[in-house]
Amino acid sequence: MGSIIRRPGAAARDSYDLVIVGGGIYGAMLALESSLRGLHALLLEKGDFGGATSFNSLRILHGGLRYLQSLDLHRFRESVGERSWFLRSFPNHVQVLPCLMPLYGEGLRRPAVFRAALGLNDWLSRERNLAVRADRHLPSGRVVDASATVSLFPGVDRRDLLGGAVWYDACMPDSQRILMDVLRSACGLGSVALNYVEAQDLLKSGSQVWGILGRDLQSGEELEFRGKVVINAGGPWSREMAARFDRDVPHLFQGSIAWNVLFDREPPSDHALALKPKHPGARTYFLVPWKGMILAGTGHAPWSLGSERPLPSREQLECFVEDLNRAAPGLGLTGGDIVHVLAGLLPAVRTGSDELALREVIVDHGAQGGGHGLYSVSGVKFTTARLVAEKTLNRVFGHSRAVRRSWTWTPRPDALQPGTAEMAALLGGLGDSSDGVDGCEGVLGKLIEEESVVHLEDLFFRRTSLWTRPKEALHAAPRLCRLWGWDEAECASELTRVQEGYVNYDAAGR
Ligand SMILES: Cc1cc2nc3c(=O)[nH]c(=O)nc-3n(C[C@H](O)[C@H](O)[C@H](O)COP(=O)(O)OP(=O)(O)OC[C@H]3O[C@@H](n4cnc5c(N)ncnc54)[C@H](O)[C@@H]3O)c2cc1C
Repeated sequence: MGSIIRRPGAAARDSYDLVIVGGGIYGAMLALESSLRGLHALLLEKGDFGGATSFNSLRILHGGLRYLQSLDLHRFRESVGERSWFLRSFPNHVQVLPCLMPLYGEGLRRPAVFRAALGLNDWLSRERNLAVRADRHLPSGRVVDASATVSLFPGVDRRDLLGGAVWYDACMPDSQRILMDVLRSACGLGSVALNYVEAQDLLKSGSQVWGILGRDLQSGEELEFRGKVVINAGGPWSREMAARFDRDVPHLFQGSIAWNVLFDREPPSDHALALKPKHPGARTYFLVPWKGMILAGTGHAPWSLGSERPLPSREQLECFVEDLNRAAPGLGLTGGDIVHVLAGLLPAVRTGSDELALREVIVDHGAQGGGHGLYSVSGVKFTTARLVAEKTLNRVFGHSRAVRRSWTWTPRPDALQPGTAEMAALLGGLGDSSDGVDGCEGVLGKLIEEESVVHLEDLFFRRTSLWTRPKEALHAAPRLCRLWGWDEAECASELTRVQEGYVNYDAAGR
C-alpha cells in the first residue's frame, strides 16, 4: 500500500491520463480502477477524503434482498457481486451482519412470503461466498418462530408477532478506513491524491479538455493540473460542477436529504433490526449494533437547499426519534442520547422528491457537444462505487484498457493494520479512557505522515473512529495537537473545528 503525500505544486508539474474531481468513495474507486489499468490518475478533493456523503452512510454493504421485492434482478446481481468484492478484498474491514425483521403478517411481511423470498435470495446469490474468507461467508437466511424472535430481540413488540425473518448482509464498521485504504492502494500503484484542493474551472483548448484549474485551499495558490480526461465525481456537487464546466444535466443529481443517527445506547439485539412503526405509510428503519451503540437509519426527506453540510431540521429529527420509539416500544430513545447525526444528499428521481434514484448516471459531455474528455458520474450506493468506476472507465478508455494488474489488499505489517491493539483503540474510540492515546502516538504519527492528515478533524473523523467517543477524544485533543507541533492559537482553532464537526439535536435545529 502506498502513502498519500500532499504536494500540490509538484503534482501540477506532472501530466495525467485523467483528473478525477471528488474524493468520496466514487472518486477513490475511480483512482484505484484507473491505476489497475495502468493509467496515471490525479484525484482532487476540496475538503478531506471521504468527508461528505461517503462518511455518512449507514455502513451496510447491501445485498439484493430489497431489490427482489421489485424483481430488479439486474440491481440484485450487481449488489450481491459488489458485496462479495468488499468481503473478498477487505476481510479485516468488512463483517457479516445478521439482520432480523419481526413479522406481524401485514402486507408481504408474512412468514410464508419471507420463506419464499429468503429461499430465492439464497439461490440467486449462491456464488456469494466464492473466494471469500471462510469466517466472512454469508449463511442462508431463514424464518424463525415467535419465541426465537423474542430470544433474538427481547424488546420486540409481542402483540400479533408471528415470527421473524433472519438474513445476512455485510457491514463496514470503519468505512472511512476502507476509503483510505482504497486511496492508498491507488497511490501505491501510481495515482496521486490531494485533499484540500478545489477544482475551480475546466481548462480547454477549443473543444478539447486539457486539465483543471485548481486552488490549493491551504496556501491559496492557483494551480493548473494537466490531463486530457476529466471525470467529475463530485457527488452532490456533480450537477453544479457539470453546469460550471459545460452545461446543466438535471438528471445527474437532484438531491434529497438522508440521515442516520448514532445513539449512545446499548443495542437491543446483536442482530441489525429492520423495524416498521405500526402506522400507515411508515418507513422501515434499521437499528444497527455499532461499536456498543445504536446506529439508526435512515430518515429521508426532499431537499431544496445547497450541498454544503445538509442537515435535517429539528422537527424532522424529533419525528425520526418518535418513529424509532414507536417501532421499538420500550427502547425510549431521546435526543439526549444522540452522539452525532450523519446526514448527506442522495440523488432522487426528481427535484423536490425523496424517492431515491435507482441507477448511476454517466455522462459523456463531449458526445453532447461539450468539452471532449469531460465526463460526469453520479451513483446511488457506496456498495456499487467500484462497479460504477469500472463502467465509467470502460466508457472513457474502452475495453482495451481492461484491468492489467491484479490487486489484493494486504494488511500492513505494522501497527496501522486493523487488529493491532493500537488501531483497535483508535477505531473503538480510545477504549476506556483518553490515556489510550499515549500508547497510540506512534500509530497516529504514521497516519499523519502517510495519509495527508491536514487537520485534527481529519484524524478524528476520517482516519480513526476517535469521534465516536466525543468526551474522551476531546479530552485527549490538546495532547494530540502536539503531534503536528501547532502553537496555542492553532490548537484552539483545530479544537473548534472538531467541536463544530459534531451534529447533535440542537445543532440539527439550526
Ligand atoms: C444517510 C445515508 C445513508 C447511506 N447508507 C448507505 C449504506 O448503508 N450503504 C450504501 O452502500 N450506501 C449508502 N449511502 C449512499 C452512499 O453513502 C453514497 O452513494 C456515496 O457515499 C456517494 O459517494 P460520492 O463519492 O458520490 O459522494 P461524496 O462522498 O459526497 O463525494 C463527493 C466529493 O466531491 C468533492 N467535491 C465536490 N466539488 C468539488 C470540487 N469543485 N473540487 C474538489 N472536490 C470537490 C466533495 O468535497 C466530496 O468529498 C448512504 C447515504 C446517506 C446520505
